[in-house]
Amino acid sequence: MGKPRIAIFDFACCEGCQLQIVNLEEELLDLIGAADVVEWREAMSEQSHEYDIAIIEGSITRPEDEKRLEVIRTRAKILIALGACATIGGINKLKSNFDLADVKRCVYGKSANMPHLDTSPTKAIDEVVKVDYKVHGCPIDRKEFAYIVRCLLMGKKPEIPEWPVCVECKAKGNPCLWDYEQVCLGPIIRAGCGARCPSSGLRCFGCRGYIDNPNVNAAKDVIEKYGLTIDVLKSKMILFGTGYEPTNA
Ligand code: SF4
Ligand code: SF4
Ligand code: SF4
Repeated sequence: MGKPRIAIFDFACCEGCQLQIVNLEEELLDLIGAADVVEWREAMSEQSHEYDIAIIEGSITRPEDEKRLEVIRTRAKILIALGACATIGGINKLKSNFDLADVKRCVYGKSANMPHLDTSPTKAIDEVVKVDYKVHGCPIDRKEFAYIVRCLLMGKKPEIPEWPVCVECKAKGNPCLWDYEQVCLGPIIRAGCGARCPSSGLRCFGCRGYIDNPNVNAAKDVIEKYGLTIDVLKSKMILFGTGYEPTNA
């Protein structure tokens, strides 16, 4: 059997997650040695319609993007969503909180009505097609990406953390930022980043998406303990979370 063929595609995004892949340097060469990369706009000019694994960066923000994504899905045996834009809609989902005509006017001014600037509410990849695996984060952790791809190349199922950021934060002995008037989302967000933000004194903004079964009652207890309301909590979830219903991929 030949090497698995990998194709990497991007939709609406900053391409920062692909940059993380490039930054793997020697490890990337190892991965490429174990697979055939047949399409990757950021790194090569070749294209192919034949691949086993499709890696998708970015979110879906136009109807024509959905059609392109559906075609990719029909060609791939395994589809991986890469980074928060792809896994949960990411920062692109911010616009879905506003009237789209207002958003376009704000961004494009007098040119807002030009046809090529048409836009639709942002969707994560799994709101359009089935996603087999997710590489979480904004940007992704390149070591986690390498681990997931390596597992798939070996025919194993990668283990993605099912516990919240708080677990990693506590293990590091960090003081809890809720005690310092920061509404940290660590209790409901998927671990795997090593509690990167709280370890630097910044609250978790939720870039890795919600855990599958957040402990809602415990979250309510914490909100009450600190004299906050659910609306305050929701307002802190807007950057990465609004409107997104988590799935179990
Ligand atoms: S998840 Fe973040 S770093 Fe990755 S493409 Fe989206 S905005 Fe860029
Ligand atoms: S700082 Fe955030 S991640 Fe750390 S323990 Fe407190 S709520 Fe959890
Ligand atoms: S602490 Fe939260 S926002 Fe920061 S990298 Fe981890 S999941 Fe993302």
